[in-house]
Amino acid sequence: MLNLAAEHAALQPALDEALREVMASAAFIQGPAVATFAAELGEYLGGAHVVPCANGTDALTLALLSLELPAGAEVIVPAFTYVATLEAAALLGLKPVLVDVRPDTFNIDPAAVEAALTPRTGAIVAVHLFGQCADLEALKAISTRHGVALIEDNAQAIGATFRFASGETAFAGAVGEVGTTSFFPSKNLGCLGDGGALLTRDTARAALLRQLANHGQSRKYHHQRIGLNSRLDTLQAALLRVKLRQLPANTAARQAVAARYDAALAGVPGLTIPARDPRSTHVFHQYTIQVNEPERRDELQHFLSGCGVPTMIYYPLPVHAQPAYAYLGYRAGQFPVAENLCGTVLSLPIHPLLTEEQVTYVAEVIGGF
Ligand SMILES: *Cc1c(COP(=O)(O)O)cnc(C)c1O
Repeated sequence: MLNLAAEHAALQPALDEALREVMASAAFIQGPAVATFAAELGEYLGGAHVVPCANGTDALTLALLSLELPAGAEVIVPAFTYVATLEAAALLGLKPVLVDVRPDTFNIDPAAVEAALTPRTGAIVAVHLFGQCADLEALKAISTRHGVALIEDNAQAIGATFRFASGETAFAGAVGEVGTTSFFPSKNLGCLGDGGALLTRDTARAALLRQLANHGQSRKYHHQRIGLNSRLDTLQAALLRVKLRQLPANTAARQAVAARYDAALAGVPGLTIPARDPRSTHVFHQYTIQVNEPERRDELQHFLSGCGVPTMIYYPLPVHAQPAYAYLGYRAGQFPVAENLCGTVLSLPIHPLLTEEQVTYVAEVIGGF
C-alpha cells in the first residue's frame, strides 16, 4: 500500500542530521523546530496559522474545545469517515449527529447537513475524504448563513485546494473556523510516530488553540483554561521539516499514479473510478474504486491479494454500525449511501514511489478478474 522505508531511505542524511540536532540540543519539548515547522507549513498552506499538537484526533478535540460549545451541543459529522471524526465530539460530551455522504465524492452531503441543523447545532465537521475537498462552497455558505462553525478534518487532504465560484482559491483546512490534520506515518505528510496540527486564519483563535494544547496555560504555571497535554515532539517537528520539502513532489507523484490508474481502469466494466470535483484538486491520499456488485468486492480483493497486490477497505463499517456509537440510536438503512460504500469501496496501492509498471500490473490483474 505504501513504501515508507524507501521514501525515508532517500531522505536518510537529512533525517539523520535533524535527529542529531535535536539530540544535541536536548530541547525535546517545544524546541525551536516546532515553531519553525509550523511557520513553514503555514507558508505552504497560503499563510494560515499552524498550531502543532500530538495527533490528528487531539486536533479535532482542540478544535471543538476552542468553540466553547455548551454541553450536549450537536456536532454534525459524515456517516462515512474514520471514527476519530466523531470520537472527539463524543468524548467532550457533545452529541455527534450523523449525515449521509455524496455517492460520487464520498464527502459530506451539504443538503443532508442543512436538513440536520437544529437550534442546538454547534458545529459542522467536514472531512476531505481520500484527498479531495468536500463541497466547501455549499458548506461555507451554510456555516455563514446559520452562524454554525465549520471545522475541516483535513487529515487526508493536506495541500489540496478548492476554487470558489467567486474565483478565489483556498487550501483545504483554511476555509472553516478551524482545520485539523494528522501526521500519522501513512498520511501524505507523515512523521515517524504520532503528530498533528490545527490550521486557522484567525490570530486570536490560533492563540487560544496554542493555549489549549499546552495545559491551558498563558505562561508557565499560569492556567487560564482546562486544556490538554498535546504537543508535537521537537523530534517529530524536525523530521517533518525534512519531509515537508518533499510534499509538493510527492503530491504530484500521487496525482500521476492516479492519472495512470484512471486511464488503465476507465474501460473496465463493473468498476467506478474516483470522481473528480472540478472545483477541488485531489491529493490522492487514497485511490478508491467501487466494485459495482457488492458481492464481488471481497472476491476481487482476494484475487488481487493472490497476485501480490495489497488493497484496503476504508471503511468496512459506517460509524453508526460501530458498537461504541450504538447509543446514538441510529438504525441500519438510515444512511444508505454510506452503507453502500462500505460494501463496494476498495483502495488500491498508491504512494509516490509506485512505478508505472506496478500500476499497469495492478490494472491488468483487475482487468483479468
Ligand atoms: C488519520 C485520521 C484522523 C486521526 O488522526 P490521528 O493522528 O491518527 O489521531 C482523523 N480523521 C481522519 C479523517 C483521519 O484519516
